[in-house]
Amino acid sequence: MNPELRRPLVAGNWKLHKTIAESVELAQEVVRCTGVTGSTEVVVAPVFTALSRVNDVLAGTIISLAAQDVCWATQGAFTGAVGPLQLLDVGCRYVIVGHSERRQLFGESDEVVQRKVRAVLEHGLRPIVCVGEILAERDAGQAETVVVRQLRAALSGLEAEGAHDVVVAYEPVWAIGTGRNAQPADAQEMHARIRATLAELFGQTLAERTRVLYGGSVKPDNAKALMAQPDLDGALVGGASLAADSFCAIVAAARAGQ
Ligand code: PEP
Repeated sequence: MNPELRRPLVAGNWKLHKTIAESVELAQEVVRCTGVTGSTEVVVAPVFTALSRVNDVLAGTIISLAAQDVCWATQGAFTGAVGPLQLLDVGCRYVIVGHSERRQLFGESDEVVQRKVRAVLEHGLRPIVCVGEILAERDAGQAETVVVRQLRAALSGLEAEGAHDVVVAYEPVWAIGTGRNAQPADAQEMHARIRATLAELFGQTLAERTRVLYGGSVKPDNAKALMAQPDLDGALVGGASLAADSFCAIVAAARAGQ
């Protein structure tokens, strides 16, 4: 990573885990082990129902609150949806958009992801835009094509001025929750491709300033090697973010890698 240009970011995606009380407890532990100052940005994404209480815990700390998803609509007849205004209201700064579980289990298309990215940016929130290939696509030699297609679709219609707050997360689907992370050199190759695509879309300056996270079985024992790659600017962490000690060890690896 290049800390001169990009402040590293480690985000914990708690997915569909934990009650409100358990989320508050985990947030308190994460606050304790990450401290109140630091050069690495730390983000946690609890379930919707715990956002408000976790936000209270994070007040005055270096940790930002994220939602795991958002509706592209601002208000209206969208039963069950939570929009960007509600996320701002509850204290969110970031929103994970286009996670592979949303794409695969809930049928989110590239177009829906694009609408969500738009809605998030229009409301001053920061999207963490997830892209990544499935195993069959990697085996067929299509990984880069798929990732570039997803990225271009998610960011289509944006101008450079509107894209400053975008964070990208490269998450090969075969590495998510499987314990099988991408090899650091393979991840670096894809991150460089993502940055080159950002440069094509928005120019070199913005591409150099945009953080590209890696996600997929990041653990304390592989974090250091991953973070040492020049185009990896942090991590989106699932399983290992559910316990404060492993999450904080990953944050420490990101700090050490700067
Ligand atoms: C994720 O869900 O974004 C993720 C990277 O999960 P895990 O770290 O468990 O592979």
